[in-house]
Amino acid sequence: MTSQEVRAQFLNFFKGKEHKIVPSAPMVIKDDPTLMFTNAGMNQFKEFFLGNSEAKSKRVADTQKCLRVSGKHNDLEEVGKDTYHHTMFEMLGNWSFGDYFKKEAIEWAWELLTETYKIDKDSLYVSVFEGSDDADKLEMDKEAFELWKGIVPEERIIMGNKKDNFWEMGDQGPCGPCSEIHVDIRSKEEKEKIPGATLVNQDHPEVVEIWNLVFMQYNRKADGSLESLPEKHVDTGMGFERLCMVLQGVKSNYDTDVFTPLIREIETITGHKYGKNEDVDIAIRVVADHARAVSFAIADGQLPSNNGAGYVIRRILRRAIRYGFTFLDTSKPFMYQLVKVLGETMGKSFPELKEQYQLIENVIKEEENSFLSTLEQGLVLLDSIIASSKDKTISGGKAFELYDTFGFPIDLTSLILEEKGLKLDKEGFDKALQEQKDRSRAASEISKEDWTILTSDSDQEFIGYDSLETEVKIVKYRKVSTKKDGDQYQLVFNLTPFYAEGGGQVGDKGYLEAPNGDVTYIIDTKRENNEIVHFSETLPKSISETFKASVDKRQRWRTASNHTATHLLHQALREVLGTHVEQKGSAVHSKYLRFDFSHFSKLSVKELRDVENFVNARIEGHLPLEENRNIPIKQALADGAMALFGEKYGDTVRTIRFGQSIELCGGTHVENTADIWHFKIVSEGAVAAGIRRIEAITSDAVKKFYFENNRMLYEIKDLLNNAQDPVKAVQNIQEENTALRKQVEQLSKDKAKGLKNELVAELKDINGIQFLAKKVNLDAAAIKDISFEMGGQISNLFLLLGADKDGKALLSCYISKDLVSNKGLNAGQIVRELGKFIQGGGGGQPFFATAGGKNPSGIEEAFEHAKRLVVE
Ligand code: ATP
Ligand code: MG
Repeated sequence: MTSQEVRAQFLNFFKGKEHKIVPSAPMVIKDDPTLMFTNAGMNQFKEFFLGNSEAKSKRVADTQKCLRVSGKHNDLEEVGKDTYHHTMFEMLGNWSFGDYFKKEAIEWAWELLTETYKIDKDSLYVSVFEGSDDADKLEMDKEAFELWKGIVPEERIIMGNKKDNFWEMGDQGPCGPCSEIHVDIRSKEEKEKIPGATLVNQDHPEVVEIWNLVFMQYNRKADGSLESLPEKHVDTGMGFERLCMVLQGVKSNYDTDVFTPLIREIETITGHKYGKNEDVDIAIRVVADHARAVSFAIADGQLPSNNGAGYVIRRILRRAIRYGFTFLDTSKPFMYQLVKVLGETMGKSFPELKEQYQLIENVIKEEENSFLSTLEQGLVLLDSIIASSKDKTISGGKAFELYDTFGFPIDLTSLILEEKGLKLDKEGFDKALQEQKDRSRAASEISKEDWTILTSDSDQEFIGYDSLETEVKIVKYRKVSTKKDGDQYQLVFNLTPFYAEGGGQVGDKGYLEAPNGDVTYIIDTKRENNEIVHFSETLPKSISETFKASVDKRQRWRTASNHTATHLLHQALREVLGTHVEQKGSAVHSKYLRFDFSHFSKLSVKELRDVENFVNARIEGHLPLEENRNIPIKQALADGAMALFGEKYGDTVRTIRFGQSIELCGGTHVENTADIWHFKIVSEGAVAAGIRRIEAITSDAVKKFYFENNRMLYEIKDLLNNAQDPVKAVQNIQEENTALRKQVEQLSKDKAKGLKNELVAELKDINGIQFLAKKVNLDAAAIKDISFEMGGQISNLFLLLGADKDGKALLSCYISKDLVSNKGLNAGQIVRELGKFIQGGGGGQPFFATAGGKNPSGIEEAFEHAKRLVVE
């Protein structure tokens, strides 16, 4: 059965059980402060489990792109070393939101595996939560146990502890017991030797968990206590690649048709064969897996970068590059060549891979290039560390520096050291790493109190598209504390005009006014689990009152201007540069907007001007906002609305139209493009291979910009004695300046020539040495010039020149090469000695050296000392 068929059968099966099939949510999460990447199928349904929104369909199934490389689930270091963990994988899942519970979940899972997929019943084991005797005092999941007993022999049911069989969303939130299904794919002989039941959950590569059925029945509160959920839910997750392994009768996920095309390509590119040498095999698996994960992330709009989610992606890619570099002898970019194969194998189910193939390839190639050169630099540095080390051990601090500033991986460091017979102080390294982790953890630690609920009326309607002011009640509030922001309060209202940060647009600011006039400032608005949360630094005194909630109108207007301008800019870029331009990121602030897009070269001055003119023509065209709040996504797309890769859209969407620009968008906009006033690009540059960034301003920021420029122009004119034509005046000054500089240069040359002749005349012959020590009024460069000129002209020269420049002493010593070799004189050494007299130091080469010091009055003494040297 091909992997395509495996996927299709899963979805079909649950369709047959009245499930709605939904698309995978993006793997990169953009609007959730608690999570960077989707790490389980349930992430996109969190709000239903928390009871913040109601699911439209109570039964849902899908395949979800997951990435487990950070936070609670981090499998990165396992990947490649074993054969069944990936960074990115697909999780097949079925859900019940307050609908069916354990019985159906268990029976259907069994039916699918044994009847549809026809997996041998005797190779399956299931686990059930055994209960806990800690503070929670949880009972064993008898219900699941009884259900399973009706299906499988009792000896195939394994009791699992809290770690494996009790699932929690986080420190707080929904949780409950789970039942896992494991499969034993060992040979008959192996099975006879060791019973499969003893290998479940023992990290055996051929006895692996494939499916986890979670039964959510509790809610964990901030104080750690559990309460029963009013509605019970089912959340299941099955590893797609592992399922393919079982159904295709192979022993490793990497031997399924999901990975073999990639592996064949890696073999062709590198000339290494898979299956001959363990180190090479690991490297090939790492490369195949990571190429997939990184490509999906880029397709979802997450480029490698230096922080946050981008840094995680960069680290995955670098891990693969390094494995290639060390074990596959790849010293040139090669991974980008896998993108094409990936598009061919997975492009059918995930068209984003195919459509963005060129961009993904470019980004990966550039990352490879830059990391390979970092690796080379690191190698040079490591060599010098090795050369300068006194004993056979390299300190952990040095290794950490390499790791931290060059991204030079520690296992590579220790491998190289090992090859050279040196040792690494691994403990010291671990300590330095831990300290760094502690520092960043402390900085990002958040503590949240439980919500205090004031009223159960929790419609939480957003009315901010239509009004900026309304009467509100506070539904609930809590205190949150972070190192960065200190104590803050989060407030949820029954309805709100405040726009919550999202879709690249910042959250609204404003204030709450109590009936007695007391004001509480709202400093930010964010969405958490589909609730609109308002942030304040203080709590209103009379919390149960009705407040007047007002959005800061000016900030909103500026932000809306920038958002509408962003749409116009997007349209302009596609018009001026071509339809290959895709939005790759956007940030709409009140003071400026930033827009990242795919395009392969720098924009010319003309292109920039054309883009600006295009946008401004639409501003001057007074185009009205045409908003459609609730239309089916199919219709919106048919109307020509632009959807973004990696964005999650519902069945119905909101469209924003200004003239010919139509976008799917949840942001706030001006009523008419004329409200933007004017649009001005302030910068254009590259952010990655094939991705450009434009920053621009609108509304009163443009006014300020022109005022500021105008003020500067007046100042310049003033400096130019109110010249009529300041440009001409500056050109004149520049010309004059060039002529003057030439004159000065000539004069200095003449002066130096005169001085040189004087110095030559003053030379004294001491023991065959042409000696002179003298103070001159020249700078270091001129002294050097004159010394070298005299050296070229006079043999056996010992010239010591001193200067007193702005209270600092300078000594410069020139010794002819013949003196250096015949008499063993060394300017470097001499200068070092003389440095003492001027309270300083210096050095250089045997024939020319200089010293600087803070005591000019010592120059004469230094001269005396030098003369004694020569006489002796
Ligand atoms: P494991 O113990 O094998 O790491 P898990 O307990 O972390 O699995 P769950 O969080 O229950 O797994 O995820 C549900 C299913 O997703 C698992 O049964 C497994 O089939 C699959 N899965 C989990 N992690 C990975 C991974 N890193 N790569 C591939 N599949 C995975
Ligand atoms: Mg795991």
